[in-house]
Amino acid sequence: MSESSLRMSAQDAVLVVGAGIMGAGIAQIAAQAGHPVFLFDARPGAAAEARAKLDETLTKLVAKGKLSASAAQDTISRIEPVASLNAAANVSIVIEAIVEKLEPKRTLFQELEAIVNENAILATNTSSISVTAIANGLRHPERLVGMHFFNPVPLMRLVEVVSGLQTSAQVASEVYELARAWRKVPVHARSTPGFIVNRIARPFYAEALALLQEAAATPAELDACVRAAGFRMGPCELMDLIGHDTNFSVTQSVFEANFFDKRYVPSIVQRELVDGGLLGRKSGRGFYTYPASDDKTADEAATPRAATITRAGSVVVHGSGPMADRLAAAATRILAPQQLAPTRQPSSTWIGLDIDGARLALTDGRPAFVVAASTGIDDVAVFDWPLAAEGASGPARLAYAVSLSARPTWQAEAASWLAAMNFVPVPVADAPGLIVARTLCMLVNEAADAVQQGVCTTDGADVAMKLGVNYPAGPFEWLEAWGASRIVAVIQALDEAYRGERYRVSPWLRRACQKMPPGA
Ligand code: NAD
Repeated sequence: MSESSLRMSAQDAVLVVGAGIMGAGIAQIAAQAGHPVFLFDARPGAAAEARAKLDETLTKLVAKGKLSASAAQDTISRIEPVASLNAAANVSIVIEAIVEKLEPKRTLFQELEAIVNENAILATNTSSISVTAIANGLRHPERLVGMHFFNPVPLMRLVEVVSGLQTSAQVASEVYELARAWRKVPVHARSTPGFIVNRIARPFYAEALALLQEAAATPAELDACVRAAGFRMGPCELMDLIGHDTNFSVTQSVFEANFFDKRYVPSIVQRELVDGGLLGRKSGRGFYTYPASDDKTADEAATPRAATITRAGSVVVHGSGPMADRLAAAATRILAPQQLAPTRQPSSTWIGLDIDGARLALTDGRPAFVVAASTGIDDVAVFDWPLAAEGASGPARLAYAVSLSARPTWQAEAASWLAAMNFVPVPVADAPGLIVARTLCMLVNEAADAVQQGVCTTDGADVAMKLGVNYPAGPFEWLEAWGASRIVAVIQALDEAYRGERYRVSPWLRRACQKMPPGA
């Protein structure tokens, strides 16, 4: 394959194999970009059905004024359902979107190799199978590459360009450019279990499931707190949307592919839902019931506590950085009516407020009872990391936990202080790292390991998580904001609490501690 032969243009024909949800979407965007597209499916009539359905969708878009009639007509006229793979003889790239099983994919590519011309690229849209394994048995494994689109293809901008061990750099770069020409945002990835998004996202689900398993919070509380941190959906409602069967099987495949590394262990909470047929939205019930869900609305409607601060002799703001400044500003505002002002202790190693000897601290990962035991202070409350900007959209829910040794008056006061600081306090069990902090730290940790292992770059991970799963920021942007040492401390506290391999700090993150100043 010479480099010059690899420059693809809109005149080059594309064959999409598999006319299901993904294949139809890929055919649409290739045709919209001007390519003649052949569409093949093993089930007779499936390709023609997919084309007819797309025609309907485009007609609706025209009716809504979102697409011109001529663009719709041009797009649909470029898609030709075909009854055999022989159409592959005339194309520059074949994109496979068939069933997610290794053997059928291997067989298909071996058949295609006998038909395509010598410069054609073979791409697979697999979401979990090793590209290296699919290429095994090909005469030219260097021309096989992963082109992992996200669902729905026309709307999701990310494409993971996945290189197996034998994929040529030229082929990966050509597919990268093709994805750009199709108005997507491609990111290079090395073929490892879960690639980028499906790997780094594991803790988003796993930490919520771990908290549910120990009955630390309800699904509605978890979702509300995670949404308040800027995520579009909480982990429980998202798993309900994806389907617990699908989510569980991705987790299982990442777990197995990593030789049962404890970090990726699936959850018995989710297994029970799957075994019980409670698959989420599609089955009418998962964590919530559908269509109506009283449990969630009840939480949404929860009235914030009254934010009256009745007692405050001395208030000291501990720690430095933007988070300590934010607390100092809030404490100044809260104490003003009593003609009091907080003092500051910027050299403290913890961030939070000392209120008449009681401690209200930003979580460093340790449960409140551990902080109480190590300091000898009975009245301790720890609160979660407030990720979203202050006042972004009214008071945001924030998880907090109170030490067992705390007096009942402190339990009420801690909540009042958080409410006065413009949060809706959500009491949860005294679990290490609460909700948002532990999730975020484990996401960063997983991303750090992916970078360490050469799966992607830090920029690639950020782009992938923002575009592939709509995270409000990328893991390395969070790392920048919160600082490596704070993130490592939370993971170490989790490890201390649970023991085992699950909460082990990425070596990449340990090294980052050496060179990064503390963040928030
Ligand atoms: P789907 O079940 O909607 O469609 C698969 C199509 O492939 C079916 O129409 C089926 O008849 C056809 N098919 C099966 N075996 C075939 C063969 N040997 N030759 C030709 N056609 C064959 O599946 P989907 O959701 O579109 O997924 C397709 C691929 O895309 C899978 O590898 C999947 O992992 C991947 N993927 C799916 C998603 C998603 O959210 N659905 C996201 C990213 C990637």
